[in-house]
Amino acid sequence: MQYNLSWQQQLAQAETDIYRLCDTVGCDPKALGIADKPPDFPLRVPKSFIERMEYGNPKDPLLLQVLPQAAEYVSTSGYGEDPLEEAGQSPVPGLLHKYESRVLVMPTGACAVHCRYCFRRHFPYQERGLLGSHWKQILAYIQSQPLVNEVIFSGGDPLLLSDALLERYFSELALLPQIKRIRCHSRTPVVIPDRITPSFIELCQKTTVPVILMIHCNHPQELSEALCDKLKLLSQAGVRLYNQTVLLKEINDSVSILAELSERLWEACVQPYYVHALDAVAGAQHFDLPNKTAIDLHERLRAALPGFLVPTFVREVPHQKAKVPL
Ligand code: SF4
Repeated sequence: MQYNLSWQQQLAQAETDIYRLCDTVGCDPKALGIADKPPDFPLRVPKSFIERMEYGNPKDPLLLQVLPQAAEYVSTSGYGEDPLEEAGQSPVPGLLHKYESRVLVMPTGACAVHCRYCFRRHFPYQERGLLGSHWKQILAYIQSQPLVNEVIFSGGDPLLLSDALLERYFSELALLPQIKRIRCHSRTPVVIPDRITPSFIELCQKTTVPVILMIHCNHPQELSEALCDKLKLLSQAGVRLYNQTVLLKEINDSVSILAELSERLWEACVQPYYVHALDAVAGAQHFDLPNKTAIDLHERLRAALPGFLVPTFVREVPHQKAKVPL
């Protein structure tokens, strides 16, 4: 279906009702094992993403990423609300400083889609503060850190901000002589490809330091033609595109799926970058896989693909100075 709606309208019309979603995808809610109470992390999924789900398939890999299931409430030791122990790493509200040369700014706690495996599904955005009124403090902090040369916009999802606001943040950061690049982590283009607007492309081009877009795509079925077309436009405009994937049980834990994902990303001008082991967040334990499975998948992927299409398999370990290769 072609949309005549703006990305903001598509966002506003995202599905939030579990039973309506089950009906749209032709699946019996009982067979899907949905929770019998409203989820604490509510359902949210744009219609353009729902359209990529296979009708009548209760195991559809896109559906399972967004569907609140009873399995989320099975309490499992080792899974907590702050799996990366990010509390205490925020010297200024709206900014996390975990790594030596990079800081992460959080302009919003909102996302276009609610991924059930999200490691920040319990993150107290309001309590810890968002970029909003703290922008000047954030700029001053970055200026005071001579080793910081890269700013990462994360969240929430930074591409829920208007292009005008992004342009302001990017241009002010680019004036700091130490900043070599600006990186945006976003899943919004994957679920609403129309988020890649001409004005977004233009603002990336105008920014005087390179802009990197790290998309977040977990399965080749997510790479619709509309999305690939937009990614190619970004690439032609000089935006460097990377992808990170979360390794998810019964969704993408197979060599054939991961190999196809890498191949399709490459066709869309996106470099496969990371496959992340799941962060041990409460509510996502049913997606987790043993380390050995991840290592085995990586080995077999290396045999199946040229090296430049094999993403690095990593885990984030609290308080480590970089991601840890598996
Ligand atoms: S888009 Fe990213 S931050 Fe938002 S819910 Fe999904 S995984 Fe979490």
